[in-house]
Amino acid sequence: MTEKRLILMGPPGGGKGTQAKVLQEAYSIVQLSTGDMLRAAVVAGTGVGKQVKAIMDAGNLVSDEIVIGMISERLDVEDCVNGFILDGFPRTLAQAEGLDSMLKEKGIVLDSVVEIRVPDQNLVDRITGRFTCSKCGEGYHDTFKLPIIADSCDSCGNAEFTRRADDHAETVKSRLETYHKQASQLLPFYESTGLLTVVDGDQDMVAVTTEIKRVLDS
Ligand code: ADP
Ligand code: ADP
Ligand code: ZN
Repeated sequence: MTEKRLILMGPPGGGKGTQAKVLQEAYSIVQLSTGDMLRAAVVAGTGVGKQVKAIMDAGNLVSDEIVIGMISERLDVEDCVNGFILDGFPRTLAQAEGLDSMLKEKGIVLDSVVEIRVPDQNLVDRITGRFTCSKCGEGYHDTFKLPIIADSCDSCGNAEFTRRADDHAETVKSRLETYHKQASQLLPFYESTGLLTVVDGDQDMVAVTTEIKRVLDS
């Protein structure tokens, strides 16, 4: 199987994490989520974690320097050699440019940039209904994806779940505004490289996966 190196773009709640988890199994590649890395830093109470907690809780973006540095270090870990999915990065034009020069330096070539597109009005429900297994990180939803057995994670059987501090209706509007503002710069950037494909994210999870796989396998 050929290696895959891709960027998954999409609005908050658009299904990036959900799809990344399926794709990492399907293609034996790793999911690199800046959101997950930052949340882990907050929980661990690292210097970066202390710096970003309030910014994240308010639904604002953390500095480009922090996320670019995190991704640059993460790409050097050997599990990335078979391929990777960038989930939630880059989010600004400066991050895209930073990624571009870092990949050139590391001799890595991207295969694909996929934008999962979902109408704004669906994202409030997606975000406010989201919860996650606190042990393995499997994602769930109050309406769209409940565990098969109530209160038991499908993947690991754990009975504890968490909800993100930023996943409430008040932050959604500004997170979406920020996304659209940044995407209006990022999408043309990747369109000009010929790597960008837009996928309809307003369909069930399996149908979205099928569309993304079609892009990656073509
Ligand atoms: P979502 O699931 O809403 O898209 P993420 O888990 O990707 O959210 O990100 C959660 C938060 O982490 C963001 O609101 C932001 O504060 C921070 N964050 C994650 N990735 C980035 C990034 N590439 N640039 C700046 N901030 C980021
Ligand atoms: P992102 O990583 O882009 O912020 P998630 O993958 O966490 O988004 O998805 C947000 C929420 O919506 C989760 O609760 C997830 O279970 C649910 N979800 C993801 N994809 C779909 C879909 N195609 N249809 C309905 N709900 C979905
Ligand atoms: Zn689990």
